[in-house]
Amino acid sequence: MTKNYKLFIGGKWVESVTGKTFNSYNPATGELNGVVAEANKEDVDLAVKAARKAFESGPWAEMSPSDRGRLLYRAAQALWQKADMLAEVESRDNGLPINETKFIAMPAMIDGLEFYAGLANKIQGETLSSPGNRLNYTLKEPLGVVAAIVPWNFPLMLTMWKLAPALAAGNTIVIKPAEQTPISILEMVKVFQEAGIPDGVINVVPGYGPTAGQPLAEHPDVDKVAFTGSTATGRLIMQAASKNLRPVSLELGGKSPNIIFDDANIEDAVNGSMFGIYFAQGQVCAAGSRMFVQESVYDKFMDAFVKKVQNIRVGNPLDPTTQMGPQVSGEQLARIESYVASGLEEGANVLIGGKRNKDAGNGHFYTPTILENVTNQMKVAREEIFGPVLSVIRFKDEEDALRKANDTIYGLASGVWTNDIKRAHRMAKGIKAGTVYINTFSMLDSTAPFGGTKQSGFGRELGMQALDMYTETKHVWVDLSREHLNWYGV
Ligand code: ADP
Repeated sequence: MTKNYKLFIGGKWVESVTGKTFNSYNPATGELNGVVAEANKEDVDLAVKAARKAFESGPWAEMSPSDRGRLLYRAAQALWQKADMLAEVESRDNGLPINETKFIAMPAMIDGLEFYAGLANKIQGETLSSPGNRLNYTLKEPLGVVAAIVPWNFPLMLTMWKLAPALAAGNTIVIKPAEQTPISILEMVKVFQEAGIPDGVINVVPGYGPTAGQPLAEHPDVDKVAFTGSTATGRLIMQAASKNLRPVSLELGGKSPNIIFDDANIEDAVNGSMFGIYFAQGQVCAAGSRMFVQESVYDKFMDAFVKKVQNIRVGNPLDPTTQMGPQVSGEQLARIESYVASGLEEGANVLIGGKRNKDAGNGHFYTPTILENVTNQMKVAREEIFGPVLSVIRFKDEEDALRKANDTIYGLASGVWTNDIKRAHRMAKGIKAGTVYINTFSMLDSTAPFGGTKQSGFGRELGMQALDMYTETKHVWVDLSREHLNWYGV
């Protein structure tokens, strides 16, 4: 039986104003996952109103920070209970292998909630070092209504990166899931509801970018827009939010360099680099999609690398032995194919892969792909492919590696494989990116800030830094002396 999902507004599950719905499909099988109410401008408006009301008055507005933290922690405990169910729902939604949703995405998502639950009563202002005739202090206040517009690659985790710090700081939120993957977020919100989150604190408006995302980003009563997605859409979000001059945080695309020096531990570099590009079918903004290999170790490294990549098991995401699932949609698959074709036209060659994987099933399956003889000028080295396609580029020495690594419009993540501690830190200083991984890749930790530079966006999610994006600093100046008051002396 097909499951129907509604919008979640003001603590109620409601149909959309127009009554419109859209279908959500399993990318591995084409099966219908559910029929989902489709939000448009009017629904977004109702959701923002509900979030405003919950922010201004009622149980959430009156709740102490400690109680807020306790409530979020209770929701986290309930999410652990439902983690396996949520992992399965998310794998059906976006095709991530069940091992990746179950053992990476869900634990990371819930850990993030616990981290900010613990911080809810530790958000505090400062007393400033003023002279004795006055008292200056700051208050850290919530912003109000936060809009979260999220993509399909890690729907729950990337929603939580916004929801958890926003709520810990006392804001309320309206979430616009990606049209490909609304269901896991709706299931997660049920868990918050059962845990006792007051009405209107979390609202979810599934729908399409231009008809639900844009009205949310440009809504005059939204106080902050948090976005994760493509660089092209990030630009539109920033334009939309600029109408009301609202603060925006953007976590966008990448073309992250992954640099293998000849003194690296080859086995570790092979394993870590594979994870860096093929994790989540390459649909990772931080993916190490440009691999730079030092000439002196090139053949040895590539031999070992290719042998392992050939063995990646592509198949049904719900099978626990599967290591790579389908791409999220036919559109993404076609994009990947056209990038690979452009690489070939520009002179690269396919070392392995480079084609659809029909053996894996009827879904949008592609084969793990390595493009060799790529130069940094080719389109496959400059643009984000968002698929399991690795571009391999040779380099001579450290200077050459650094120059090539930084020759990109992006700056999200990067990786350096070396056993030379001085070189590792020199590279860490030299690379222009939000994260530098040394002898690892694509690892995440709730305590560690994540975000980009250049066209990978701005703002930092996770860590203490994320709280800055969901609080405003207010300064209070108290006069203690009266001595400066009579400036005019009249
Ligand atoms: P993709 O191109 O891979 O679908 P996007 O960056 O376009 O990735 O999507 C990320 C999120 O942004 C999704 O929730 C999508 O619906 C939303 N979105 C797309 N276009 C717009 C827009 N013009 N305004 C606001 N949100 C949008």
